[in-house]
Amino acid sequence: MRKTANRWSLQIGGSGIMVREGTGPARRCGGIDSIAAHSMGCYGQKMADDKYSSFNDLAAAERRGEDYEFESRPRDASRVVVIAPHGGTIEPCTDKVADAIAGRDFSFYCFKALKKNSGLHIKSHLFNEPNCEKLVAGHHQVISIHGWKEGGERVCVGGRDAELIAALKKELVAKGIPVEDAEGSLKGTDINNIVNRGATGRGAQLELTMDFRKNAAQVEKFITAMRAVLLGA
Ligand SMILES: [Zn+2]
Repeated sequence: MRKTANRWSLQIGGSGIMVREGTGPARRCGGIDSIAAHSMGCYGQKMADDKYSSFNDLAAAERRGEDYEFESRPRDASRVVVIAPHGGTIEPCTDKVADAIAGRDFSFYCFKALKKNSGLHIKSHLFNEPNCEKLVAGHHQVISIHGWKEGGERVCVGGRDAELIAALKKELVAKGIPVEDAEGSLKGTDINNIVNRGATGRGAQLELTMDFRKNAAQVEKFITAMRAVLLGA
């Protein structure tokens, strides 16, 4: 993202995935250990370590700032919001990817687990953290970034915004990103899915495999392609 306002990059090393912003020091983005230990299942798939079915239940038992954190960054002029409801150790680096897509142009939200094997995954159709709900409701285009449990360097695209999905797929394919249509529980068409709770009731949900997230060059191409479409939308 050195050509954009974000100045953001991923670095992959033996100690895990590092995120570098600008010329600052690289920071860990979920260690490989925690990634390997974590079930990377996502929306619609019952995860063995899913403890909560609503944010209210989670907030009653977990500590903000120690167990979890969230960030809401509105951009007043933006019709687009990019969200990562399963960031931090839940679906590692999805929050960083969403943040980089949003940059300074679009609104951004992420929910992050801060501890390993957190069990803080709340399914997308149950995700109801109030700041996220409020931010999403005020935007016409909602993009959600998730981790996909499948192997290989692959991205799948789902959601209810067929027009946006088609535009994103076209640009991603043009940039050499392996793109698949979301199937089954990853289709993202549930009207209660947080990605479909924007002003239009339609959004686009993108699932990135861990192998894909480990490939910094592909991730940079992905972010650039996503921004190109959203900036032109
Ligand atoms: Zn997810």
